[in-house]
Amino acid sequence: MITMGVDVGSTSSKAIILQDGSEILAKTVVNMGTGTQGPGQATEQALAQAGLCRENIGCMVATGYGRLTFPGADHQVSEVTCHGRGIGFLLPEVRTVIDIGGQDAKALQINSRGKLMNFVMNDKCAAGTGRFLDVMAKVLGVPVEGLGQLSAQSEHPVSISNVCTVFAESEVISHLAAGAKLSDIAAGIHISVARRVAALAMRVGIEGQVAMSGGVALNQGVVRAMEMELKRPVLVHPDAQLAGALGAALLAAERMQ
Ligand code: ADP
Repeated sequence: MITMGVDVGSTSSKAIILQDGSEILAKTVVNMGTGTQGPGQATEQALAQAGLCRENIGCMVATGYGRLTFPGADHQVSEVTCHGRGIGFLLPEVRTVIDIGGQDAKALQINSRGKLMNFVMNDKCAAGTGRFLDVMAKVLGVPVEGLGQLSAQSEHPVSISNVCTVFAESEVISHLAAGAKLSDIAAGIHISVARRVAALAMRVGIEGQVAMSGGVALNQGVVRAMEMELKRPVLVHPDAQLAGALGAALLAAERMQ
């Protein structure tokens, strides 16, 4: 039984091919989201990686912000359900998932089978999302992938008091003009994101082990800042960005059964 999950995100597209609902045959991330060639490329690359064609896929589930406009999937399932399932598979001991993607942040509670029990979400404001980090990385003149390592060298993180992305951007520019170190500004940016998303997570309630999913989980600076805010360890699986696609592929397998 071969199934596929496709996560059509706002900034990136992810695909996973599963055998028998348990073995990952292929996984791809393409840094282009909904409305671009990203979703098509992610699925084609995954099929090529597994040496398969679309006809070999018994069931395909699409998730993510652009799931309803993605052609070719058999079913569509919400991101929160899929992220919960994906993290439940990767890290079965986890009960609280903090998912930060390109343009929203969510906190989920899941049970021992990865089933979604409750969630809260911020999709109204760029603060506390990957978009905030992308904008700030541009202002600092560093790739967003390098922000985490940069912030690790910080000794005196700056304070970013504005919540609004536009005002926070002006604040970062003022810190730059005042000669603050890039590492201290990067650390301040991470604390700002972590504080906002931790407040969201408190609303859903922190239970059991905590993990992050979504692309921002790859930013070690945000993960460290989140651990400080929540005062507990935050687990990150290497496939954290693919958790949604994995959950979709697992749900596709369940539907076939
Ligand atoms: P979506 O599903 O909404 O398209 P993702 O979950 O893929 O978004 O997350 C995208 C965000 O993840 C980007 O805005 C960026 O801030 C962050 N990101 C992606 N890759 C990396 C990386 N290698 N290192 C640090 N941050 C990353």
